[in-house]
Amino acid sequence: MCYISVKYKFKEICFLFGLLAFICSVYITIPLSGEYWNQQEIYMLSKISSYRLALGCYLIVFLFISEIYSRNRQLNYEYKRMMFCDELTGLKNRRYVREKVLEKYIFQDGYILLLDIDDFKKVNDKYGHHIGDLVIKHISNLLIHFNLENKVISRWGGEEFLIISSNKTKQECIATCNQILELCNKIPFGKENIKIHATVSIGAVSFNSFDSNSYEKLIQEVDRCLYDAKGLGKRQYKYGGIF
Ligand code: GH3
Ligand code: MG
Ligand code: MG
Repeated sequence: MCYISVKYKFKEICFLFGLLAFICSVYITIPLSGEYWNQQEIYMLSKISSYRLALGCYLIVFLFISEIYSRNRQLNYEYKRMMFCDELTGLKNRRYVREKVLEKYIFQDGYILLLDIDDFKKVNDKYGHHIGDLVIKHISNLLIHFNLENKVISRWGGEEFLIISSNKTKQECIATCNQILELCNKIPFGKENIKIHATVSIGAVSFNSFDSNSYEKLIQEVDRCLYDAKGLGKRQYKYGGIF
């Protein structure tokens, strides 16, 4: 009931009805000047008045409950957003992957990609942290608009992103790595007269199941692959196999 009242904005209507019933219940018990009411009329009027009073009270209580409910929902939503979303990019964060993904999804036959923007310190040093932030947002937008099915994209750390995708083969994993590298090459970051060709390195591993038992190992392996990709000269992916 409270949910319906929040959804359809019944609160205002309830408040008006409640107030009206309250006023009517008070008003009806005040005799007009010089008017004489017999016992039966007084009995009837007091009965109507008490019904209205009860209705008014009920509606006002209802209004308060729905108000508390909607505020609670809002706070809950804010709390979850702060806990599990990254403020800069709007992507899910590392805590979300660790707590919610393992709890909510059972991923099978999928892959994990760990991306790190290449030479990002130079971007910060040359253009400042503000532009650095925009480059992070630019890469996250490319990943969001890149059509990955059954996936979770998260901002893993500073300029690192983790993607988990399920029901995918090794070939699909490699194809996705190539597409991401191509996309970053094709669409540089641009703002006013600044143009930055931000590239990424990618660590990639496949898995047969992604759950709390395999989680730590998969993260370690994909991190190792990313490290290798950096060592091999950046702007490339390193596929580590199936774990
Ligand atoms: P590599 O190619 O080896 O990855 O070199 P790199 O310069 O990218 O080195 P590294 O990944 O170690 O450095 C990441 C830098 O990103 C360090 C830190 O100052 C910066 N950084 C981390 N988080 C943020 C952020 O939210 N905004 C900005 N502007 N910079 C960040
Ligand atoms: Mg890094
Ligand atoms: Mg980097």
